[in-house]
Amino acid sequence: MAAADPPYVGRFAPSPTGPLHQGSLICALASFLDARHAGGRWLLRMEDLDPPREPPGAATSILQGLRDHGLYWDGDVVWQSQRHTAYAAAVQDLMQRRRAFACDCTRQQLAREGGIYLGHCRERGLPLQAGHSIRLRTDAADTIQIHDLLQPMLEQNVSSAVGDFVILRKDQLYAYQIAVVVDDAWQGITHVVRGSDLYPSTPRQVLLQGELGLPTPIFAHIPVITNRQGQKLSKQTHAPALQSSAATQNLRRALEFLRQPTPPPGLNSPSAIVAHAARHWDLAAIPGSTAIPDTYTD
Ligand code: GLU
Ligand code: ZN
Repeated sequence: MAAADPPYVGRFAPSPTGPLHQGSLICALASFLDARHAGGRWLLRMEDLDPPREPPGAATSILQGLRDHGLYWDGDVVWQSQRHTAYAAAVQDLMQRRRAFACDCTRQQLAREGGIYLGHCRERGLPLQAGHSIRLRTDAADTIQIHDLLQPMLEQNVSSAVGDFVILRKDQLYAYQIAVVVDDAWQGITHVVRGSDLYPSTPRQVLLQGELGLPTPIFAHIPVITNRQGQKLSKQTHAPALQSSAATQNLRRALEFLRQPTPPPGLNSPSAIVAHAARHWDLAAIPGSTAIPDTYTD
């Protein structure tokens, strides 16, 4: 890095919906290695925004799974459940500047509009209260371009592709889009390395960064690992939890998936493998596709 570059700050930001599986390990490992290779910091943020979807113990089990795989983060874990005041301030700010508005449209009304919000409640002046969601006002004139380190350039007009989107849900839970933007800025994140399943929502985040006067980080969206049916490995597709006793094999598989050099066979601790991988890390070797099937699934 040139002396004038800001220091590198990366992060892993899991939602605690289940234990670590091979797909989440790949994302954690890629963001960790990219940060360590650059001599940067690697932060951990638990995105516990949606309690009904979070089985007890999932967050603890993810953290233990990361340690068991030699992935040690810097500083304290940030818990999004502790950050509601910051999200509330951002929502208030957008509402006061009339960049966001309350909406009481029902699911049925929205379905009739084909999933793209056409601005029905924009000028109704509804208050912020339970039962109302808050939506960001999107402007038809705004086209967002994302230059990703791995994926092809993405150009999206959020207004026509998504419409005015929810930043605070009807049930008063904050939406991922606002929380991720507020926290990436607050934690000083310079590089976001994460799964390509989140690439399509990146224009919404860049739009929010602009609205809130926050910096946009550098993005690298890595391919997601799928099962033979082409489904992303996730809790929903019953991806098995990783066994800590198999940590070195899990890491070797993850490095192979990321097309990184094979660590010498003599390295048999997770820490030795990740240290070797960090020295030899080559982001450009990762395929620029959005999904790759797991060669190890039966
Ligand atoms: N919490 C999100 C997830 O687990 C990832 C957020 C991010 O990396 O921006 O899918
Ligand atoms: Zn509405």
